[in-house]
Amino acid sequence: MDQMRIGKFIAESRKALGRTQRQLAVTLDISDKTVSKWECGKGLPEVSLMLPLCRTLGISVNEMLSGERLDEESYKERAEENMMDLIKENAENKKRMALSVICGTITVIAVCSLITIASYLQLPVIVRILLIILAFATAVAGIGAAAVLEVKAGYYECPGCGELFVPSIGEYVKGYHTFTKRRLTCPRCGKRGMCRHRVVR
Ligand SMILES: [Zn+2]
Repeated sequence: MDQMRIGKFIAESRKALGRTQRQLAVTLDISDKTVSKWECGKGLPEVSLMLPLCRTLGISVNEMLSGERLDEESYKERAEENMMDLIKENAENKKRMALSVICGTITVIAVCSLITIASYLQLPVIVRILLIILAFATAVAGIGAAAVLEVKAGYYECPGCGELFVPSIGEYVKGYHTFTKRRLTCPRCGKRGMCRHRVVR
């Protein structure tokens, strides 16, 4: 799915009705930042907003996901392509999430082995120090890679308003977290809360 194209089409459809981003945001009870994000191609509307958005703009969800008006002939073909794209996107997110878990596990094993070797084997001090530095570097690289994979795998759900969003890496790393939740600021309602991680929309 071409987010830039979808965003441009949303903007065109909105302007054709003579409405501002702010007016559209008020109708949908979302922030104008969210509308601007879609129109810049930086994210798709969450599924629960797709229908109200398209109704407001007088287009179909299929047309929005295609990024253009469709005639009867191309309508069915594009609907099938768009459906497959949505399924593929979810599958890719699941794959990234699994990779993130594997990456985290390998990191933990590697770091523990290095520290064990450095602690228990008879080694010159310089080798011990090098092994500990290597363990530290492995930990930083591994956790970083796992975090990048996880933050890209799916969305976080605001407990207040239900908005699905992808946090910035900075906010993601800083946020206090449990295994499935993370403290983040919602871009829609601005509340800070424990947001549940969802791999699929
Ligand atoms: Zn919220």
